[in-house]
Amino acid sequence: MIVILSKDISPHDKEMARIYLKDRGFSVREQNFGEDAILGAIGKGVVDIRELGILPGVERVAATSKPYELASRETQSEDTIVTVGSVKIGGSRITVIAGPCAVESREQIRETAERVRESGAVILRGGAYKPRTSPYAFQGLGMKGLEFMKEAGEALNMPIVTEIVSTELADQIKDLTDMFQIGARNMQNFELLKKAGSLGKPVLLKRGPSATMEEWLMAAEYLLASGTKDVVLCERGIRTFETYTRNTLDISAIPVVKDLCHLPVIVDPSHAVGIRNKVAPAALAAIAAGADGLTVEVHPRPDTALSDGMQSLYPEQFERLMRDIEALAPVVGKELLRTPKTTVAAPGRSDVPPDAPDTRRNVENLPIAFSGESGAYAEQALMRVFGDDAHRVSLPSFKAVFDAALEGSVSAGVIPIENSLAGSIHENYDLFLRYPDIAIVGELKLRIMHCLIADERATIDGISIVRSHPQGFDQCREFLNKHLDWQLEPYANTASAVASIAREGAVKVAAIAGEAAAKAFGLKALKTGIETNPQNYTRFAIIARKAGDKAPVPPSLGSDQPNKASLVFSVSDEPGSLFICLKILSDKGLNLSKLESRPIQGRPWEYLFYIDVNLPQNTDVFNSAIEELKAKTRDFHFLGTYRAAR
Ligand code: PEP
Ligand code: MN
Repeated sequence: MIVILSKDISPHDKEMARIYLKDRGFSVREQNFGEDAILGAIGKGVVDIRELGILPGVERVAATSKPYELASRETQSEDTIVTVGSVKIGGSRITVIAGPCAVESREQIRETAERVRESGAVILRGGAYKPRTSPYAFQGLGMKGLEFMKEAGEALNMPIVTEIVSTELADQIKDLTDMFQIGARNMQNFELLKKAGSLGKPVLLKRGPSATMEEWLMAAEYLLASGTKDVVLCERGIRTFETYTRNTLDISAIPVVKDLCHLPVIVDPSHAVGIRNKVAPAALAAIAAGADGLTVEVHPRPDTALSDGMQSLYPEQFERLMRDIEALAPVVGKELLRTPKTTVAAPGRSDVPPDAPDTRRNVENLPIAFSGESGAYAEQALMRVFGDDAHRVSLPSFKAVFDAALEGSVSAGVIPIENSLAGSIHENYDLFLRYPDIAIVGELKLRIMHCLIADERATIDGISIVRSHPQGFDQCREFLNKHLDWQLEPYANTASAVASIAREGAVKVAAIAGEAAAKAFGLKALKTGIETNPQNYTRFAIIARKAGDKAPVPPSLGSDQPNKASLVFSVSDEPGSLFICLKILSDKGLNLSKLESRPIQGRPWEYLFYIDVNLPQNTDVFNSAIEELKAKTRDFHFLGTYRAAR
């Protein structure tokens, strides 16, 4: 049952309503939606609805339309983000769990963990107690297996998830695992659900092979009602008349359940299809359908696996899948959460770049800066890299972000440097030239999806003015051409255009910006996806101050080995001068991923060149190329080395 409170309810009246419900046998949870607040009353209490409805400050009482109240979106509109050890599941990230079906030996789980971590998996899976269809099949190593898995997880800094099959073992397993898995066969083992939900650990709840979505959500309700808030749902294929695949992956369950329920939904493509070379396509389909992550079976030698070898990926196949997910993620507006690759320093590596920035400075407690209002695309980019709860600060301009990074009041900044439709953001390249002590330490590619945003009361026919950054207008030209009577007003950034409407309460004005900005300012999207070309991406650079010879690499970029460098230079106005520079790179076998020229302000017919280079394994080659380039160019600026966004 939901009790909708009036906007001006006093704290005293709210408390009285809460006590009224508690006294009648309900547990009560408050939820806020902007200025509106509701009380969710859960349980089998008995109440006179009319009496409740006339309590001071109570506006309306509504029975929830769903039997699962704690799990329902009606009770909580925001996505739940589940934390497993140091890893988060849900929100804008894609979290991948991987490992063998069963732990077979200390060596096998360790080797598998190393391989899947190297490819970017962030949580290790493995069964120690296996619920097998046949009593004669391998049943798992039990506690010993769990100890091996814990050992591997700790050594590689990966939280672990394992299946719990009985209430008796729960307390013992609790101390060894970071997350419980409730297997498909046990989805409606209600005693087990009650126990697992009461142990203070996150739970991964598989969908039963014959369970409806509602039954699955009722099972989640059991877990939530038993105390835990951290439940992740896992679609793993259901029983249908089809026998070619092991089960039938119910792709439609992903968007449906995400709509009904606020918990993260991940997919197990391995048990869904049961055939090794069909796992990756099913996994990609799941991500495209909006899954928050995957759990995938991987075995170093699947042919010898003691269980589910047929559906276990070779580590190489898993690596390929992870790369594909990384490429797909921005299309669905998400980012793959990755464990940084372990770096093996090349012998004699002096750690490029020549002017690289500093990891030694203690930057952990400082915020990260972006330019614009809350809800800005740069803030979205920042949250993808550093997490939704990252300590962040919004500044009025790109220059202010550079200043803050330079003076050390922020640990890093996030700035746009290039859009796939509109080209480079020259203002920021110019700032790099003016701030030689600032380096690029990472990058991110964000899909830009524009909306027409306005006040709740506005209608598209009533709009006469549209505000945005000029790039916003350019990227939505086809849509704007259908409304030639609209007057366009340029703003410094898209989110500040949205903020201006909220401030003025204007109903005839709309803004072009992202959905997050609409949400941040309590406005609505009159139309979404108005960009002319859906392949609209912006590259953001993560910048930080150089200090000594190293950079404060943000923790989520970790120790990933840089594979890309950015440079800016100009050349003398004589035949072949650019050719000579490019030849230096070519002779050393260095691949260019970007070459752009632009006029230098105040020096007619002289040009600056922006260059991105893929870094070779042998950094000496790159270092010597840089030395040669410095000698042959003017205005040489090394912007940094970092891991390329895919
Ligand atoms: C497993 O994950 O190893 C497993 C047994 O899965 P399910 O319960 O989905 O069959
Ligand atoms: Mn299995």
